[in-house]
Amino acid sequence: MSIVSIIGAGFSGISAATYLASAGYEVHVFEKNSLPGGRARQLKTESGYIFDMGPSWYWMPDVFEKYFGDFGHSVSEFYSLKRLDPAFDVVFGKNDTTHIPDRYTALRQLFEEIELGSALRLDQFMEEAEYKYKTGMESLVYKPGISLSEFADIELMKGVFRLQVFSSFSKHVRNYFTHPKLIALMEFPILFLGALPENTPALYSLMNYAGLKLGTHYPEGGFGSVVKAMVDLAKKKGVTFHYNANVEKIEIKDCEANALLVDGKLFHCDAIVAAADYHHVETKLLPAKFRNYTEEYWSKKTFAPSSLIFYLGFNKKIPSLQHHTLFFDEDLTQHSKEIYANPQWPSKPLFYTCCASRSDETIVPYGHESIFLLMPIAPGLSDTEEMREKYFHVMMKRLNQQCGEDLTPHIDYKKSYCVNDFLEDYNSYKGNAYGLANTLRQTAILKPKIRNKHLHNLFYAGQLTVPGPGVPPSIISGKIAAQQVLQHLSKKEKHESIF
Ligand SMILES: Cc1cc2nc3c(=O)[nH]c(=O)nc-3n(C[C@H](O)[C@H](O)[C@H](O)COP(=O)(O)OP(=O)(O)OC[C@H]3O[C@@H](n4cnc5c(N)ncnc54)[C@H](O)[C@@H]3O)c2cc1C
Repeated sequence: MSIVSIIGAGFSGISAATYLASAGYEVHVFEKNSLPGGRARQLKTESGYIFDMGPSWYWMPDVFEKYFGDFGHSVSEFYSLKRLDPAFDVVFGKNDTTHIPDRYTALRQLFEEIELGSALRLDQFMEEAEYKYKTGMESLVYKPGISLSEFADIELMKGVFRLQVFSSFSKHVRNYFTHPKLIALMEFPILFLGALPENTPALYSLMNYAGLKLGTHYPEGGFGSVVKAMVDLAKKKGVTFHYNANVEKIEIKDCEANALLVDGKLFHCDAIVAAADYHHVETKLLPAKFRNYTEEYWSKKTFAPSSLIFYLGFNKKIPSLQHHTLFFDEDLTQHSKEIYANPQWPSKPLFYTCCASRSDETIVPYGHESIFLLMPIAPGLSDTEEMREKYFHVMMKRLNQQCGEDLTPHIDYKKSYCVNDFLEDYNSYKGNAYGLANTLRQTAILKPKIRNKHLHNLFYAGQLTVPGPGVPPSIISGKIAAQQVLQHLSKKEKHESIF
């Protein structure tokens, strides 16, 4: 039986491993950390707090359903989903907070109250966005992005203008809405994709459909429940996980990647899926002549932001805070420029708070609350304790004002996480949090390739290759990489059976 090794137990690695084991191969996953999940690991404190360290927005439930469905299961067999209403809050200023309702009829009404005539335009916007989502999810995202010919599908070509791959998201939104609040609301998912709305294709209004129509969900127990479900399924299919297993090198023999060097020990294999950060794999694990890309290539790419995060425990309940709150009480354009155009610590940052314990009592000690503060920043910034503290106070001041009380004395757990941690924990290029931004020049076949050009049995998965950043795309990425491995191994096995 052929052996496949996977580097990294993030969503993409677990996904690739499960498809490959399900196809009958012996699969080993090597993960440098002590836990699976990668950026979605959980932090469990002695005092009883459980924090999701990364993702907190469960969007595109259909992708998760499809994943478990591929193995004859459904999401509900593994974890429960709660649909949040309001989906989230947006703070636009002092005493100016908008609750974004889950129901579409209520959302239309909200739009109409903010800007006369906008409910009808929202319908039109959503109709387009739904078309993009459905076409995108059915025909685009599962493509390996190896050649243009993958897109030469008649139906797809007919719809290419409706998909708006070549027009800007920013213009698209402004064709429908003029009120700054509505523009901010529609542009916010672009923050997920990590680029300026003017550089992002209007295709990505599919994210508005995903967020505002398909709903914002919460997996009970947090994203850790999703990781656990995927790992349990992978083990059931026969995958072996090796934790605290740092891959040091990909060994090459006769133009094939034939082993991994893991903490000084060699593990032989017939194919490899590198599901750790692409840049790390290329520059640290492969000799220069076998790399797909140069250091210069990476330095020219637009990376999604890094983040300054605080995981906070409070010894009291905070009823005034919803599960998700976006603090958009400063200028979005200014902060975006300080991430992309002129990278520096932001002068007046926007930030986000996640109070998951509002929806889930099991993740905090009784009567307590947990909050995760996240401020997006440019990757590669100099990360010091003083800077972290400075922004902690900036964010706490605005959080206190929003909640109408001084919460600081009630903090009984505090941990920060920033650029240096992303580098140290995930070998992440410049400490990026969400991978490569989805700009026009970094979409589909223009993303770093899923196959190594020189070594035909080495493949890549994860948020730096197709289809892009986020949990659902990472899961899909694992499936695409697994399909590539299957093609390669079945060709090889056929060849071997002939000779
Ligand atoms: C703060 C934050 C918030 C986010 N919020 C959301 C959200 O709300 N919704 C959403 O959908 N997405 C969100 N994302 C994005 C999402 O979490 C990621 O896109 C996704 O988890 C990436 O999965 P991955 O498998 O590509 O990479 P990773 O999760 O990074 O997995 C790669 C794994 O490889 C391991 N590794 C690295 N080098 C080696 C080595 N040499 N040897 C062995 N192992 C190695 C790493 O330890 C890691 O476990 C967020 C991300 C962050 C950081």
